[in-house]
Amino acid sequence: MPKHSTKKKQHLSYSPYRPYQRKVVADEADSRPLVVHLTKTVYQEIISHCQKELPFEACGLLSGSKGLVKGVWKMRNLHRSPYSFSMDLDETEKVFTKMERQQQQFMGIYHSHPTGIAYPSREDILYNNCHDVVHFIVSLASKKAVVKAFKFEGFKVIPYQIRVTGD
Ligand SMILES: [Zn+2]
Repeated sequence: MPKHSTKKKQHLSYSPYRPYQRKVVADEADSRPLVVHLTKTVYQEIISHCQKELPFEACGLLSGSKGLVKGVWKMRNLHRSPYSFSMDLDETEKVFTKMERQQQQFMGIYHSHPTGIAYPSREDILYNNCHDVVHFIVSLASKKAVVKAFKFEGFKVIPYQIRVTGD
């Protein structure tokens, strides 16, 4: 662990080379199960968006309130690639404004791995700039989509359980 990481305060700014909020996540892991809740509609919408974008990776943002993800914001993959994704910053800013207007919180990011497993790639972790939200990865490598959720603690990957509730 680099020495400078431990004293860093909680800022949303990031450097891909600097581990972030190591302690906060570790405390959470000790005290309660790591679970993320989504509605059924959200869960299905994520999968169908990812399938629709094949053979390219799809990406999007997720919003919600009171610990439940309720909103899917489909984003354009600027890379238009089967192996990576990138979102337009202006587009994401606009979405964040809309979320706020709807009194929703930014809760997660999703993207697909058209031929890869539902686990973050090295680049996913390295170029991640959203450290306080859950990352959903949808693998479309086999017939049935596989969805997994994670948070990144620096370069460490912390799995989250997905609970689909209500509609
Ligand atoms: Zn990825």
